[in-house]
Formats: sequence, structure tokens, C-alpha cells
Amino acid sequence: MPMFDILSNDIGIDLGTANTLVFVKGRGIILNEPSVVAVEKETGKIIAIGADAREMLGRTPGHIRAVRPMKDGVIADFTMTEEMLREFIRRVIRKRFLIKPRIVISVPSGITEVERRAVSESAENAGARDVFLVNEPMAAAIGVGITVEEPRGNMIVDIGGGTSEIAVIALSGIVNNTSIRIAGDEMNEAIITHLRSEYKLDIGENTSEEVKMKIGSAFPLPGGEVFMDVKGRDAVDGLPKTLRLSSVEIREALDKPIRDIMQALRKALQQTPPELASDIVDRGIVMTGGGSLLSGLDQRIREETNLPVYVVDDPLSCVAMGTGKIINDTQKYSRLLAREKKS
Ligand code: ADP
Ligand code: MG
Repeated sequence: MPMFDILSNDIGIDLGTANTLVFVKGRGIILNEPSVVAVEKETGKIIAIGADAREMLGRTPGHIRAVRPMKDGVIADFTMTEEMLREFIRRVIRKRFLIKPRIVISVPSGITEVERRAVSESAENAGARDVFLVNEPMAAAIGVGITVEEPRGNMIVDIGGGTSEIAVIALSGIVNNTSIRIAGDEMNEAIITHLRSEYKLDIGENTSEEVKMKIGSAFPLPGGEVFMDVKGRDAVDGLPKTLRLSSVEIREALDKPIRDIMQALRKALQQTPPELASDIVDRGIVMTGGGSLLSGLDQRIREETNLPVYVVDDPLSCVAMGTGKIINDTQKYSRLLAREKKS
């Protein structure tokens, strides 16, 4: 390892709506935490950040509020996002080194100019020397090992917590990009709504996510349907109760958000220039993000588009790996790195 690398603190960050991952040059991904902050309601004081705060979601006593600062698509709460970013950077940076880090941060591409500024300012305030922002699908593609600089089209479908991003990448640029605020969170919401309207059963976000991961699907299960007991609270008498749910009804409950994602995907395909579309017919659709792990989602997309579809090996960490590859070789990726102007 070159001497400079040993001394450097350069980092890559996947600032996701559900999870934040931090890659440190020469060390790899060393932080992976839910993007959650717990605050004391009255004073605004931060109690916990990351996994500890996530445990509190929906379980907090009256005076504590657990928030997901990036929940509704992009940045729902600037201050909280900044505090969270600052804390995560603090946890990985080795203070004894005098050289300030350069930081590559991937952000959802649907983010506004104001939000971009807020993210890069937070990183500067947290001690960055230079901040570079990169679009999430681009970082994902690089993380997966796609040679993004080729004159060939690649389609990346990244399904995260708050946003689904569909991007066609060629020649180190994003040719077209669709970002919708329907992804994993909406799927959780759909399950919560279904149980409330069908069974008057109230469940929280964490339980709903567990149901989705265990028995949720977008296509009939090849090995037969499965069941799960779910605990919640009766919405009428307020008492705890348990219900047996089948994968069939959860699939029905998930149908609306999945159809919305399918519709965005179809639109993105229609907007793709013909030459690049033919590349996609050859190379297929590459799926990343935690949402791509929903059982049968790849199959559903295959059936509806007639295209080859691949879920990458590490859908939850490929974006962070991509930011890491970029920070390891900023020369090679200089075209991607529009440095954010210091204010
Ligand atoms: P973000 O980039 O927005 O932080 P991630 O790529 O980390 O999002 O993905 C988080 C989303 O993936 C969450 O909504 C989570 O529920 C979902 N997810 C993770 N694993 C699975 C799984 N096995 N099945 C379905 N959804 C999953
Ligand atoms: Mg992501």
C-alpha cells in the first residue's frame, strides 16, 4: 500500500434512505448502520444514531422520537441528516492523522440542488477536505464491476428504502434516469395498511419489514406458498393478538407498489434510445439495492419485460463498494467527480 494511503482518511459513503455504509480507503466497508436518529422530543437532544436508534422505531417512550431523516424519498430532515452523517464520519476517521479526508458520497439522483448542497456542507462541517457527490446508480454500477466508460448501454434498477432508481448508463454518464419515491418503505406501508383494513391488526414498521423479508414476494413462490405468525395489536379492543398470514395475501398487498415500480421501468425502457435499448436486450437489467432481494421480483420483471434480469451478489453493499472504488482511483473516475463548490 502506498505510504499516502496509510496516512489518508479518504472515505466513500453510501448515504441511503434506509442504510448508510462507509468505506475507508485501504480498509473497506467498516460501517453499516440504519439511517435512523433518535431524539428527545422536548430538547431536541440526540439520544442514539444508527442501529440503536432503529431498535427504538415505533417502540419509543413518549418523550423520544426515532426519525429516519431521509425517509420520504430524499432528505426529509436536513439537521438530522447532517448530525447522522457527522456521527458516522466521526466513528471511522482516525483523528491522529492530520490530513483531512476527501469524501465521495453517493446520493439518490432525484435529490434537488438544495439537498445536494446540504449533503456536501454536512460532510464539510464534519471535517472533509473535498466532497464529491456521485449518483447512486452510477456508484452501484461501478461497485458491481460494470465498465461504465464503455460506449455500451447498461440498465441499473436500484430499489432502496425510500427511492427506486432506474438509470441507463453509458460513456460514464447517465443517459436517462427515473427516480420514484416508491420502494421498500412503501412495501412496508402496504403490508401495514392491508392488515389494518382486513383484520384490524396494527403492526409497526419493523414487524412489517420482517413480514416482507420472510414471506413477501412479487411472483408465486417456486417451492410452494408459506405462512407466518404475526403479532400486533387489535385496532378495536387494543389488545395484543397473533394472526397467521400467507405469502399469497402478502403478495396481493404488495402488488400496488410493485406495479408502480414496473410502470416506471416500462417508461424508462420506452425513453431509452434505440441503440442503447439493443445493448440492454443483450446485457439485461441489473438489479441492486435491498429491495431487489424481494422474493420473485426479478422473475416478475423478467416476465413483464422479456429481458434478462440479474440481481447482483451484494445488492446492499455495491453502492458503498462503488464509492470506494472511486475514492481509490479518483484519476480514473475524474469525469464523474464534479467537486461541490465550497461556499
Ligand atoms: P437505501 O439505499 O435506500 O438505504 P437499501 O439498498 O439499503 O436502501 O435497501 C433497503 C431496503 O431493502 C429496505 O426497504 C429493506 O426492507 C429492503 N430489503 C432488505 N432485504 C430485503 C429482503 N430480503 N426482501 C425484501 N426487501 C428487503
Ligand atoms: Mg441505496
